[in-house]
Amino acid sequence: MIETKNLIIGAGPAGLAMAGRLRKLRQSFEVIERSNRIAEAWHRHYDRLHLHTTKATSALPHQPFPKSYPRYVSKNQLIEYYNKYAEQFEIRPHLGHQAVQVSRIGHKWHTRTQREIFLYLTR
Ligand SMILES: Cc1cc2nc3c(=O)[nH]c(=O)nc-3n(C[C@H](O)[C@H](O)[C@H](O)COP(=O)(O)OP(=O)(O)OC[C@H]3O[C@@H](n4cnc5c(N)ncnc54)[C@H](O)[C@@H]3O)c2cc1C
Repeated sequence: MIETKNLIIGAGPAGLAMAGRLRKLRQSFEVIERSNRIAEAWHRHYDRLHLHTTKATSALPHQPFPKSYPRYVSKNQLIEYYNKYAEQFEIRPHLGHQAVQVSRIGHKWHTRTQREIFLYLTR
């Protein structure tokens, strides 16, 4: 059983953004990700895909895209950026952990994966 103040489910862009913010605020957190890598959905998209939103509006908190990136970032550049973001903000998701049940017991939330229970207070 792992106790944490904040649990983030999913290490996609949204989960990474939340983790980056919490790291900046010096708040502890855990991230669980059902697949075996960060930004799983982006790995599965077709290779010539580029963002249709500009790089100025598509970066995660506290870390703009590298200057060398084009205005419309490619899928592979995006994946590289997400991996470096995780490194920089020391975001180390528990990979291969799928949340299969979330329940509240008293003042504690229990999030169960196949292998672990993550426990956090509601206040
Ligand atoms: C083809 C395509 C092009 C796009 N282009 C753009 C664009 O140009 N600009 C833009 O802003 N947006 C774009 N989007 C939108 C895109 O969905 C988001 O940018 C982004 O991937 C969403 O991030 P997310 O973290 O919310 O979700 P996801 O990327 O889906 O990440 C969710 C993560 O949670 C994990 N997960 C899910 N359920 C569980 C569970 N129960 N337990 C543990 N882990 C779990 C998944 O494995 C995944 O890694 C595009 C989407 C598509 C499909």
